[in-house]
Amino acid sequence: MAKGLLISVSGPSGAGKGSVLAKVKEMDPSFGTSVSVTTREPREGEKEGVDYFFKSKEEFTQMIEEGEIIEYDEFVGNYYGTPTVALQEMSEEGTDVLLDLTIAGSMALKENFEQSVTIFLLPPSLEELENRLKGRGTESEEMIKARLEVAKNEIGFVGNFDYVVVNDDIDEAAKKIYSIITSEKCRVPRNIELLQSL
Ligand code: 5GP
Repeated sequence: MAKGLLISVSGPSGAGKGSVLAKVKEMDPSFGTSVSVTTREPREGEKEGVDYFFKSKEEFTQMIEEGEIIEYDEFVGNYYGTPTVALQEMSEEGTDVLLDLTIAGSMALKENFEQSVTIFLLPPSLEELENRLKGRGTESEEMIKARLEVAKNEIGFVGNFDYVVVNDDIDEAAKKIYSIITSEKCRVPRNIELLQSL
């Protein structure tokens, strides 16, 4: 069986990666999702094992040493990583997996897995990004500032991605991502087994 695709979406904090990916999953619940490990404190309403696995820095370091994390990155003072086993199992059984990663995370995926597809999600403008971060009400003024600074840098990396999608409407952005995935699944190199069986 062909390996499931690893669809990684990156983009500035506030671009709407979480909402758009939730919409894609709603459109097709057969997508798998990778639940990351983080050293960040849980936000109100976030659940252990659903939004993230919340760990201390020591626990996170130990997971890296034991090979339990396939890629990781630091983002405004906290660590975030993708658990190895769950991702490999889903992909091996042919499930297409959605991931929400930093730019370095997407690049690591692209380098290590031929079944990866990287998508950069852009906000309509930096002003809109600031409004969204403020409107979310979950971060301090200082944290919003830090996230905006990172965002400005991040936009320069869009050229390293396979696709770019502007999120000015969640439904439209989700439809575009769904179309990208559909096209990727039709690429000839991803259908060699099928072609050989003819
Ligand atoms: P947040 O604190 O807003 O939940 O996430 C901050 C950033 O960490 C987001 O840009 C998100 O894409 C990224 N992120 C979440 N999980 C992972 C992961 O497992 N690996 C990497 N590289 N980035 C992650």
